[in-house]
Amino acid sequence: MDNQVEEIKQKLNIVDVIGKYLPLKKRGRHFIACCPFHNEKTPSFTVSPELQIFKCFGCGKAGDVFTFLQEREHIDFKDALEELAKMAGITLIKNPQSEAVESKEKRLITLNEEVIKFYQYILLTHPLGKTALQYVLYRGITLSTLRLFRLGFSPQNPAIIVNYLFKKGFTSAELIASGTFGVSAYGSKSLYDRFTGRLIFPLSDYRSRVLGFSGRILPSSPNPNLAKYINTPETEIYHKSHLLFGLNLAKESIRDTQSVIITEGEFDMISPYQAGITNIVAIKGTAFTVEQLQLLKRYTDTLILALDSDFAGNAAAHRSIELADSMGFDINVLVLENYKDPDEAVRTDLAYFKSRLANTLPVWDFIINTTVATYGIDSIKSKKQILSIVLPFLVKITNSVIRGDYYRTLSNLIGSDIDSVHEEAQKYIHPPALSIKPITTSPVTTDTYLARLEKQFLTYIFGAKKPVSLAARLSKHLQSLTDHRSMLIAKLLLSVPDFQPADFQQQLEEEIRPYFQEIYLEATNSDIDSQSRLREIKKIASQIGIYNLKNKIKELSQKIAQQETSYSQDDSLSGLETEYNQLLQQLARLQTKKV
Ligand SMILES: [Zn+2]
Repeated sequence: MDNQVEEIKQKLNIVDVIGKYLPLKKRGRHFIACCPFHNEKTPSFTVSPELQIFKCFGCGKAGDVFTFLQEREHIDFKDALEELAKMAGITLIKNPQSEAVESKEKRLITLNEEVIKFYQYILLTHPLGKTALQYVLYRGITLSTLRLFRLGFSPQNPAIIVNYLFKKGFTSAELIASGTFGVSAYGSKSLYDRFTGRLIFPLSDYRSRVLGFSGRILPSSPNPNLAKYINTPETEIYHKSHLLFGLNLAKESIRDTQSVIITEGEFDMISPYQAGITNIVAIKGTAFTVEQLQLLKRYTDTLILALDSDFAGNAAAHRSIELADSMGFDINVLVLENYKDPDEAVRTDLAYFKSRLANTLPVWDFIINTTVATYGIDSIKSKKQILSIVLPFLVKITNSVIRGDYYRTLSNLIGSDIDSVHEEAQKYIHPPALSIKPITTSPVTTDTYLARLEKQFLTYIFGAKKPVSLAARLSKHLQSLTDHRSMLIAKLLLSVPDFQPADFQQQLEEEIRPYFQEIYLEATNSDIDSQSRLREIKKIASQIGIYNLKNKIKELSQKIAQQETSYSQDDSLSGLETEYNQLLQQLARLQTKKV
């Protein structure tokens, strides 16, 4: 497979691939654009056709054509590989084991695709779907929205769809594995459809692959005691905790607006979407999972909760809020006082919904306000109650400044002094049960001062018109570099007859390549004139020299001190002292030299 990765890289030009997503402009040896991974007005996103890599000098994102596609499309390596192989016109060779698992998953996805096509057909065109269609239209969903979300209806007689799928070549085992169908417990051989008589919402992943379904009972159902909504049970491809309804349609808008509205159910997501508020998903419940938050984190850091108004009284919702806070999300609440849910609000008064959306409340304010409104502040008892509800939240706010502010707000609201609120808060401080590190975008640099100087030194050399001849002039300095990576790069530069970035990179050990890429991109990104370049090079060379000398002097003085205390009788001490003095003089010369 490694060979195929290389083959793909050779066939594709990173400039063409990235050019499909961003308008790239040629600048010098590179192409540049405004970074797709962070907000910026002047381009610092750089693509190097020579090295077939990209790097953003603003946010630090960097990599090859695979990294780009993964980050940009939010897909894993496997999916990126498939996608790029297709672009390159290469057929992937797979090992039989992974192929078996994959083909099973693919079969289930294909099966689901057939199922939803069938359900769609029934809802849109068949007399069996007429009541369901009337119901959906009555709820204000237009035909085009209905098609976009691929709503369907599962008719009362499951034999129709089961036979349809058999004809398409699927087996009973596959039908059962999909979760949509089951075998009756009473020994009957025939399969039943879990969603019979229900309006169907396909549950798709962010790439619009149908992984499962949710089904809503119709108000006209002959059996009104059935659960209002049911979902596909966990299958090999459907995991409820990993899914966000509508993300496949909303992701671009979430990225553009840098916020996501989170609703509970399908209609709460669809109605605003239809009305043009498209940065919206449904979690299908009142609590969200780590996986769902991680999925959203790829697009935005801002959550707008549009959940049922009593969600704050719900333990699962509490945990979700703590979780989102610990993952670095900025959490706000959309308060819709006059309506029971977003669907109703949007359908009755869109202007009201929009104005509330423009005035969301930070979640902590929301919790304090609703609790105070519920209990009042007239009695000691109610104040105690308020503290016992609100403080467990506030103590978990990660940012201590914000936490302190809310303690103050709370103490003002209930008319008690801040110290007693602090004291009361102590009762609710437990060791954190969950510790999820916020996802960092740029790697932490642990390079030492000297390593950084050496890297900079190389950067100036590689930025020159003729790096090889400049390196020859500076060979004394280059040979004395100490950082392992810089040393190897310098050594190679001193040995090649001519500098060709791609060849050069190829000759480096693989672990060193990213380091070289950083240097090279940085080097070719600055356009200083050759005189200033030389001045900078000399300056760094002398800084490196001073640093190394100081180190030697330190070592030597330690040796001398050891010798002096060890009383060993030899001449080495005076030798050391002479050397020490020479080094001091050298240092003095270096430090006074004008650069
Ligand atoms: Zn960036």
